[in-house]
Amino acid sequence: MAPNIEYPYMPPGRFLKYASPDDPFMVAAARARAEQASDALYPVGAAMVVGGAMVARAGNGFNRGAGKVHVCPRIVLDVPSGTGYELCDLHDPTGHAERMLLQVAREAGIDPAGSDVYLYGHWWACEPCWSALIEAGVRDLYVTDDAHERFAREKVYGETLTPGVKSVYIAGPITNVEDFESQKRFYEALGEAAEQVGCRSCIPHRDSGETQWAHDENKAADVFAWATGAVRDCDVVAADVSVPSLGTGGELVEATREGKHIVLLSKRGSRVSAFVRGNPSVVYHIEYIDEADAARQLRNVLRQL
Ligand SMILES: [Zn+2]
Ligand SMILES: [Zn+2]
Repeated sequence: MAPNIEYPYMPPGRFLKYASPDDPFMVAAARARAEQASDALYPVGAAMVVGGAMVARAGNGFNRGAGKVHVCPRIVLDVPSGTGYELCDLHDPTGHAERMLLQVAREAGIDPAGSDVYLYGHWWACEPCWSALIEAGVRDLYVTDDAHERFAREKVYGETLTPGVKSVYIAGPITNVEDFESQKRFYEALGEAAEQVGCRSCIPHRDSGETQWAHDENKAADVFAWATGAVRDCDVVAADVSVPSLGTGGELVEATREGKHIVLLSKRGSRVSAFVRGNPSVVYHIEYIDEADAARQLRNVLRQL
């Protein structure tokens, strides 16, 4: 019944075994994927079975648990497949589900020798993982019988690289900018980038209703109320922090108080305050070359949130 599939790697004399996605041990591996895999991009779970009983579970991304935001620089920078591994170590083979499973089992005093391993979330195992499994004396490695389709890269990315966030507030200096016209165009380009991945954008100069509001002394209280309210209404604050701005700094603190994600953008070479970079709500800091690069990177960040 084994489908005729070309595997990127298979150790000599070994082969994968197949189980239905409904197999109880596969369901256990799926649960490990949902709860324990911290690689939000390509989550994989694994379960170890000894003598007909499930004895250990683990997820990839070093088994740190699901639900953590990981904005992968390799995706942000459109790094070609198979390169740029130095940019992010979350996906390192030492943190793969198979290796973590062996570690979890050993820490619990379980000898993996003679066990079977069920993998849910991937359709093959890499060379370092196979070597570790063989060395540990694991008997068989199971994937789902439809794994090569269910967990094909494009299929998985189609699910994981879709924004879960719905709206983005575009923050940045307004009062102390030399060329407000080109700065406005930049904010609009960032808003457009957000909209291209299905997010609503909120841009102060465009959406506050009055283009000159920031410069009108009588409107100062309205400016504060509008901007803080708009930050609260969005899921993400994307802030250009290339040039210091008191208002932007305030908006970022408001975003943190409200539990929003923050994406910083700064032109390469500009110096950004440590207070801003150290904000725990910052999920990614984009350093851009030009407007188009900033927009492209912002799109790739939002796809991962
Ligand atoms: Zn990564
Ligand atoms: Zn692996």
